[in-house]
Amino acid sequence: MSEKQTVLITGGAGFIGSHLAGQLLDDGWRVIVMDNLLTGDVRNITHFANRDFLFIKHDVTEYMIVSEPVDYVLHFASPASPSDYMRYPIHTLKVGAMGTHKALGLAKYHNATFVLASTSEVYGDPEVNPQPESYWGQVNPIGPRGVYDEAKRFAEAMTMAYNRSHNLSTRIVRIFNTYGPRMRLEDGRAIPNFITQALRGEPLTIYGDGSQTRSFTYIEDTVRGILALMRSAETDPVNIGNPEELTIRQMAEAVLEITGSQSEIVEMPLPEDDPQVRCPDIHRAQTILGWSPEVSLSEGLRPTIDWFRQEVTAVDTK
Ligand code: UDP
Repeated sequence: MSEKQTVLITGGAGFIGSHLAGQLLDDGWRVIVMDNLLTGDVRNITHFANRDFLFIKHDVTEYMIVSEPVDYVLHFASPASPSDYMRYPIHTLKVGAMGTHKALGLAKYHNATFVLASTSEVYGDPEVNPQPESYWGQVNPIGPRGVYDEAKRFAEAMTMAYNRSHNLSTRIVRIFNTYGPRMRLEDGRAIPNFITQALRGEPLTIYGDGSQTRSFTYIEDTVRGILALMRSAETDPVNIGNPEELTIRQMAEAVLEITGSQSEIVEMPLPEDDPQVRCPDIHRAQTILGWSPEVSLSEGLRPTIDWFRQEVTAVDTK
């Protein structure tokens, strides 16, 4: 076995970043997390304190120096829920653009492999369903979601430029909707909202008529896919997501069924530029990485609901 590897995870106090950190610590890696805690939470990483772990509180849009050797840079810093990136539009653009540039510079300095957390949002409101990586997308650059979509599209372009111009080893993972423990109560995305509303006996808020589709991947599957890509030699983007597509109304009904909640479902206005469909074509992940999701929606929802139950109880009994 070779020497211990060190990974730097930007956004490592966030939902996906902290799960990656935990898995890599379990795999025997040294883990450095860099996060400004804008949407991340220090509670996601405090339990790593007595392991081979370092937390650096830093905004990755500012110049960064890490003096010890780094083998991998995983760039996961960014607001990721629509309500977060609409609340922090300029931060979102900056972390996708300047933050990606700084993180790439750091990877280049250390001759580390760089992994970009990209997103299904690069496909925008797609005219092709499911979306293969070869699809270029339909994005409104000046709409409210443009701050995230264009930042991530720029980040992909910048990553490829470092690969081509500097011969940097790079990976691009296009992550589709992911859910699981450590999502925040106030995250604002469909699953956190529906579970919190169901547990509190409040109406489940469907935006529009709920006929828009998404596909949801449990965090363990997403982490396994990202790490498989990291360990591969694949430079071109790879979709990581669950190809089982369902409507948002079906998702709300699944939450009601599993929680046993008597809440009603209500319709609210559909946000601007909300994609009508979204579903990954995962042939590349299957053939190149040997990866497919393994956790069914009901298997993944149970631990997620348990997590939100604890969070709701902690907040509501304060
Ligand atoms: N959505 C909803 N009710 C909510 C939150 C979201 O109906 O309380 C819808 C949203 O309009 C979108 C889908 O659920 O069509 C998924 O939204 P989410 O914010 O989870 O992520 P997105 O896939 O849009 O990035």
